[in-house]
Amino acid sequence: MPELPEVETIRRQLAPVVEGRRIRAFEVLDPRWCEPLEPAALADAVRGRTVQRLARRGKYLDWQLGDELHLLMHLRMTGTLLLDPPQRPPLYARVRATLDAHELYFSDPRRFGTGQLVAGDAALEDFLGARIGIEPFEPGFDGPHLRARARGRRVAIKSFLLDQRNVAGVGNIYADEALFRAGVHPLRGAGALTGRQYAALAAAVREVLSAGIDAKGASIDDFRHLDGARGSFQDRFLVHRREGEPCPQCGGAVAKIVVGGRGTYLCRHCQPAPRLALSRSAAR
Ligand SMILES: [Zn+2]
Repeated sequence: MPELPEVETIRRQLAPVVEGRRIRAFEVLDPRWCEPLEPAALADAVRGRTVQRLARRGKYLDWQLGDELHLLMHLRMTGTLLLDPPQRPPLYARVRATLDAHELYFSDPRRFGTGQLVAGDAALEDFLGARIGIEPFEPGFDGPHLRARARGRRVAIKSFLLDQRNVAGVGNIYADEALFRAGVHPLRGAGALTGRQYAALAAAVREVLSAGIDAKGASIDDFRHLDGARGSFQDRFLVHRREGEPCPQCGGAVAKIVVGGRGTYLCRHCQPAPRLALSRSAAR
């Protein structure tokens, strides 16, 4: 699933091409993409408008179309945006947009991706405020912020990180990589880290997201760039999807466990288990 670095990669590639362009045509080929809004209603609202700015909020792409009209796109599991692809329409095309001379497709084999219109900046903040929390690159994202947000929470710290209301844009890959770098076991209770661990974790989240953006995202399944190319961050994973391979810090074997239903990779030596979790599993 695309996470913050993958969506940011798409935004950085797409923004210079689409900003200032007029939407000549917009066709939703799969009504599920924008339901409950009718495809024709969405097309009527955006056609003829000029893309003022392409922004990102968490994993959402925010097409700012003037008059405070926002088209929010979410790639979900397998969505990709393809610009002027060689094959038209590409496989699994769900939306076709014509931006002056360019053709942009939203392709999505599993059809979980969405598009929705939000009218008004205040409505946008309401919508996003209910769904996503602080952006990790905002100045307020730090150890004390994480600590305050996690106070009293017994949920596993990894599940806490995956909740978009706590940190916007972190998914399974970057949570594993950040917890490893911070030396924090994924099952540790979110409210039970030390001040030093919260600070290390906040720094590690930023570090792995920056590294992911530098590598133009990770392509372990469907994620592709606008031109169909792959990101390369999967070649730099320290623990994610490296079960049985040596830990880059201690040389021990990387382990795989399940946390909140998600495959989770860690080094048991560098990320010591919380005592509570140990005694619980021993009691089973
Ligand atoms: Zn290790």
